[in-house]
Amino acid sequence: MTENIIKTECDCCGICCTKGGPALHYDDSALLQDNFLTAEYLITIRKGEPVLSLSTGNPEPTQSEIVKIKGRGAEWTCLFFQEKGAKCTIYEHRPLECSLLKCWETADLENVSGRNLLSRYDIIPPHDPIIPFIKAIDEKCSLENLAQHLSALNRENSRQQAVNELTSLVNTDLAIRSQAIAELHFSLDLELFFFGRPLFKILNQFGVETHEINGICCLSVTPFLSSTSLANP
Ligand code: SF4
Ligand code: SF4
Repeated sequence: MTENIIKTECDCCGICCTKGGPALHYDDSALLQDNFLTAEYLITIRKGEPVLSLSTGNPEPTQSEIVKIKGRGAEWTCLFFQEKGAKCTIYEHRPLECSLLKCWETADLENVSGRNLLSRYDIIPPHDPIIPFIKAIDEKCSLENLAQHLSALNRENSRQQAVNELTSLVNTDLAIRSQAIAELHFSLDLELFFFGRPLFKILNQFGVETHEINGICCLSVTPFLSSTSLANP
């Protein structure tokens, strides 16, 4: 019979590091200033994007932008976690949330969760040429817009209009990214920090498949979308 072990101190098992990298707070600014963390290692979760809530364990739209350490590829596991020896490769310079995490007692982490979060505008210099592109995507392709059209997608009388609006949104998002890359020449790693995940990937998360025709991202909408797969931030 398997014995349930209740932890009362950290035994460095590393399980918390496999559940996702930490969000960054103002207290972590020095890690960026001293180059212990650089933008290539970060991903932006834009306001309104669904993330797992610490309190409910369910996906809920973020109330504000989050900049966090990326996972490895498509995995949740933090980029800096090393399986061999269950080791954090930046342990001496790990962010605030990691230093507060005690899986057996989460009060310290909950006290800082969602507060004093760093955003891209705290990290990127104000006159950096990427800033107008970031603002363009945030203004034209907001998650709030996406959620409204997703809701409309589930209503028979507004479905076609919603498909048109969502198609326009995902392609505007892709076009601004392409223009930024063409003008400023940066890597995919930086794209995820500058702009977060493309809208079509977020649509996929909500159960709306997409495909490409002649360079245009198109929605593959089935007649009956599950209402539980849709969220309205
Ligand atoms: S805090 Fe993380 S590393 Fe420590 S015991 Fe809990 S899950 Fe394991
Ligand atoms: S930075 Fe280190 S301690 Fe924090 S989640 Fe990543 S591997 Fe774990």
